[in-house]
Amino acid sequence: MDDHLDNLKKSYQLDIESAKTLGELDKLFLELFGKNGKITLFPKNFSKLEKSELKVVGPLFNQTKKSLESAIEERREEIKLSGFKKILEEPLGLRTVNSAALKKIKTKKRQGHMHLVTQFEEEIIRAFAKLGFSQFESPQIDSDDYNFEKLNIPENHPARDLWDTLYIESGGKSLESSEKITPGKLLLRTHTSNSQMRIMEKMKPPFRQMILGRCYRYENVDARHEHTFEQFEIVYVDKGLSMANLLYLSEYFFQAIFGYDVKARLKPKYYPFVEPGAGVDGLCIFCKGKGCKVCGGVGWLELAGAGMIHPTVLRNGGIDPDVYSGIAWGFGLGRMLMVREGIEDVRLFNSGDLKFLNKY
Ligand SMILES: [Zn+2]
Repeated sequence: MDDHLDNLKKSYQLDIESAKTLGELDKLFLELFGKNGKITLFPKNFSKLEKSELKVVGPLFNQTKKSLESAIEERREEIKLSGFKKILEEPLGLRTVNSAALKKIKTKKRQGHMHLVTQFEEEIIRAFAKLGFSQFESPQIDSDDYNFEKLNIPENHPARDLWDTLYIESGGKSLESSEKITPGKLLLRTHTSNSQMRIMEKMKPPFRQMILGRCYRYENVDARHEHTFEQFEIVYVDKGLSMANLLYLSEYFFQAIFGYDVKARLKPKYYPFVEPGAGVDGLCIFCKGKGCKVCGGVGWLELAGAGMIHPTVLRNGGIDPDVYSGIAWGFGLGRMLMVREGIEDVRLFNSGDLKFLNKY
């Protein structure tokens, strides 16, 4: 039996050493260690042995098993390594892509890219980040408190008519418009200005924040109105800010996104959370001030809304209006893009119309 083991070891060791592929090695491994392998079945003969014989054969068997196992493992590593070496030693020319063959493979042209509005968002963020503004996130579902009340728009204020608000069902009951609006009532934010109070509560002035995001209104949808749209807004609080800073920011931004010397002008406009409030016009990019169909012969287009943050709002946010002043400045992305790209229907942005979207 000792001889048998010895022969088994010698013959398999030769086979293992001369194996050239991992497949050949696997085959040898199965012959020895598989379910009916020679090593697996070998201990069956032990019962026929005398105790004295077993004392010799037992350890010999274990030794044979171990040495065959490690011989296979060693050879496996050698084969793997030689494979790598082969690749490394190959002349580079042989590994270059066969471009003629590749051309024959038909691939579908992929058209995917970022949505027009998303691309625009990145442009805006880049422009204001250069001036030290950082992004602030506020919830799209918010309370009446943050959306209106604290922004100097109390329940009975006539300004609430400016926003047709979508209120959220509470406790399974939908809210009727006749119901009394309580400060805690939930709604879909009607403007990004719901961030103003949150920023003031979280940060100590001076600060420069920008907010970008979706807003919702209960609108009849047409070519110029959408129920879901994107707004951008900056909230800038520091000592000594004035309308001059506001005008500068407006011109800086128009020039950043329209790419040439667009002048800006301010005209009085009412928003309850600013004082004074301003409509921000940009020189018409189509006629450059001469007057055309787009600007209705005026030479200017209203592009943004802004103002100095109302002292009451600053006070609500814990900021002393005698020490600090603030600028709020914002616009709707759709409107601005429509002007820049000559898009006539605001509904196209949310349409999923690939023919339209792939143009940008
Ligand atoms: Zn014009």
